[in-house]
Amino acid sequence: MDFKFSAEDEAFRAELRSWLDANLPRRERGEHAEWAFSEESASHWERRVAWHKKMHGGGWVGISWPKEYGGRGATLTQQLVYGEEMSRAHAPALVNQLGTMLVGPTLIQWGTEEQKKRYVPKILSADEIWCQGYSEPNSGSDVASLQTRAVEDGDYFVVNGQKVWTSDAHHADMCILLVRTDPDAPKHKGISYLLVDMHSPGITVRPLVQITGARGFNEVFFEDVRVPKKNLVGEKNQGWQVAITTLMFERSGGGGDRGVAGQIRELAALARRLPRGGATAWDDSAVRQKIAEFQCEAVALRYTGYRQLTRRLKGLPPGPEGSMMKLCATELNLRVQTFAMELLGPYSQFEYRAPFALDKGRWSYRMLGARGPTIYAGTNQIQHNIIGERVLGLPKG
Ligand SMILES: Cc1cc2nc3c(=O)[nH]c(=O)nc-3n(C[C@H](O)[C@H](O)[C@H](O)COP(=O)(O)OP(=O)(O)OC[C@H]3O[C@@H](n4cnc5c(N)ncnc54)[C@H](O)[C@@H]3O)c2cc1C
Repeated sequence: MDFKFSAEDEAFRAELRSWLDANLPRRERGEHAEWAFSEESASHWERRVAWHKKMHGGGWVGISWPKEYGGRGATLTQQLVYGEEMSRAHAPALVNQLGTMLVGPTLIQWGTEEQKKRYVPKILSADEIWCQGYSEPNSGSDVASLQTRAVEDGDYFVVNGQKVWTSDAHHADMCILLVRTDPDAPKHKGISYLLVDMHSPGITVRPLVQITGARGFNEVFFEDVRVPKKNLVGEKNQGWQVAITTLMFERSGGGGDRGVAGQIRELAALARRLPRGGATAWDDSAVRQKIAEFQCEAVALRYTGYRQLTRRLKGLPPGPEGSMMKLCATELNLRVQTFAMELLGPYSQFEYRAPFALDKGRWSYRMLGARGPTIYAGTNQIQHNIIGERVLGLPKG
């Protein structure tokens, strides 16, 4: 492949970089990881919404979407550049991430014109926040075994059941909900995909507190919730195909190193500041060696991302690189955060934002949060299965 970016792509990079320099306050840089799944106060949430709206105002939300739906029609290469620049600037995640990454692209592919007109603009502007109702207490990796039921009643579906781990449901206005509409059909063939107003009577959202102390996700209960039939996406009982489209967008999101390169740079800066034996931790060659190893892995991930891009530029479907990147990036992130705990020694015990904590206690927060990405969007064991079967050609277990 050619490692050089075209003049247009470099111009795109320069435009985004200068926009971020002008619009992203210093104090909000480096809070990327914490913003993804944390929430301490209403003002914190408002800051996240304000950042999303600022990005939207600058034309930097939904960049890959067609222009007719409010996107920029950015090329695949520009999407990669976008991920690199957002990571470089330590830009916080968008507040309506599930809406922009999953729901919008799925609706553009599967929605009716009416659904696109009604929902897509408010996804971009974050005027409506979305959540994803897939997982249930007994259906996670095998989500097609879900049991939440929807029964037809005139112009409505009536929904009963429970979802769990529903990120942002406590803020959400809308939900993409997988329901069983034919309990007698084989499990993948009796599922429908609904757009549900989270303010409907009969919905109860109960926040779950994560190990980080944040309330990022929830249990959601549905009791006789009436959903208009016009909110069905795709055909009744054919929702699995729509659900898979959403999952493809979920797994392909995040770019090459998925932000871990920025964390490694911060780790190196931390080592340079930490006193150790009359010098700093950075003066210890074992510490430098470890951080250099992390950096090599991050660069390998970046090039794996480029390899995937090359396939797609040649018109080939996304390969198994997505699973490899998801697996390797999340495992690398976990090791980076664990090593930060070793470097910090007793300081690692300070909680996020505790007085006297180094870097506001950000490292212990990140370490506690680093398990999550190894679980969502297909657990890492499931990624191992995919790589084993599709890359190594091993027999199915
Ligand atoms: C931070 C976070 C946010 C999330 N947000 C959402 C959300 O917004 N909406 C939503 O619907 N869900 C969400 N989830 C849920 C997530 O999708 C599920 O946790 C995930 O699919 C795994 O399902 P499970 O927890 O039921 O585990 P299980 O599927 O029960 O798995 C338990 C263990 O068994 C392993 N395992 C399962 N099957 C196999 C297999 N075939 N081969 C090998 N090992 C296997 C798994 O890897 C895991 O280690 C979120 C999860 C996290 C951590």
